Amino acid sequence: MQHALIRKAEQEHWLSEEELAMLLVDVSVEEELAAAADRVRAAYVGNDVHLRGLIEFSNVCRQNCKYCGLRRDNGKIERYRIEAEEILALARKAKGYGYRTVVMQSGEDMYFSAERLSDILREIKQMDLAITLSIGERSFEEYKLLREAGADRYLLRIETTDEKLYERMDPGMSFANRLRCLQNLRTLGYEVGTGSLIGLPGQTIRSLVRDILFFKSIDADMIGIGPFIPNGDTPLAGEATGDFHLTRRMVSLLRLLMPEANIPATTAMETLMPNARVLILQSGANVVMPNVTEGDYRRKYALYPGKMCVADTPVQCMECMSGKVRSIGRYVSGDKGFRHHNHVAGS
Ligand code: SAM
Ligand code: SF4
Repeated sequence: MQHALIRKAEQEHWLSEEELAMLLVDVSVEEELAAAADRVRAAYVGNDVHLRGLIEFSNVCRQNCKYCGLRRDNGKIERYRIEAEEILALARKAKGYGYRTVVMQSGEDMYFSAERLSDILREIKQMDLAITLSIGERSFEEYKLLREAGADRYLLRIETTDEKLYERMDPGMSFANRLRCLQNLRTLGYEVGTGSLIGLPGQTIRSLVRDILFFKSIDADMIGIGPFIPNGDTPLAGEATGDFHLTRRMVSLLRLLMPEANIPATTAMETLMPNARVLILQSGANVVMPNVTEGDYRRKYALYPGKMCVADTPVQCMECMSGKVRSIGRYVSGDKGFRHHNHVAGS
């Protein structure tokens, strides 16, 4: 039965809620799922791996998500902001290392108004880099200004499509507003990236299946998923870590259902298992976001403990990741890595 379902997913890119649940819970199909997802990845998005340089430019946050070390009530974290000139220097270096995209990520830090950020984005665009923003919830007008200043893509995870769980995990935030933000980003012509946390306390297999169907229903351009990793300085300190293998099966199912999407192998995966990003690249993923933030900022951007590579320099990250990509017979892409549309190898 499971074999037939995997074949169906590989050919038709569609499964029902029941069918998805059956595969997602089944540890014994993991390798077969990954192999099928790897074939679909090769056929639809090819052997290129897109590297995006991640700049973590502020860990100040007005929100209070229970899982995240940057939450405003965490008094133990050392806060920082990287000012415009230094952000631009990091972007310039990212370009120098060969990246074609920078991902600018931060807490919801309102010091970085849309106007202030727009000035920075316009300068980065002069460097011929694609820009992804990941700065949380803003108004339609702010998203509009940022898009006009040159932002191409936006990452805003739904975190979970279980509305009650979402509002329990993200006190003071509303699920409806999260959806509105994703819709506004789409309307404004951003490439829209979203995703979820795997293993939040109280999350069910059924709700993960609904996450997959949600990503498909909004035709997400990018889907980043990662295991929840408990942080000792948050209310979820004593909770269990998200399951690595369940997350891997999620990645593979996502690729089977969404053949053209950009799907990253996330840092959180690597935190749970050495070399995980390579395994995930062979299980359906085609994107990696190496860190280009420098020095002590890396350590201070502490979403969860044990984050990989905090002592490495950006050059080491680039060389390490390029080497790993080549070692599995793949290539570091030379283009900006926009989402593929309706492309099948050989057609
Ligand atoms: N503030 C922006 C936002 O929330 O969209 C962007 C930065 S936020 C730190 C990026 C992502 O980190 C979140 O979407 C969340 O899924 C992830 N994250 C936060 N805490 C985590 C944890 N303890 N384990 C794994 N991922 C976590
Ligand atoms: Fe802030 Fe994002 Fe962390 Fe929530 S997940 S506390 S919005 S940085």
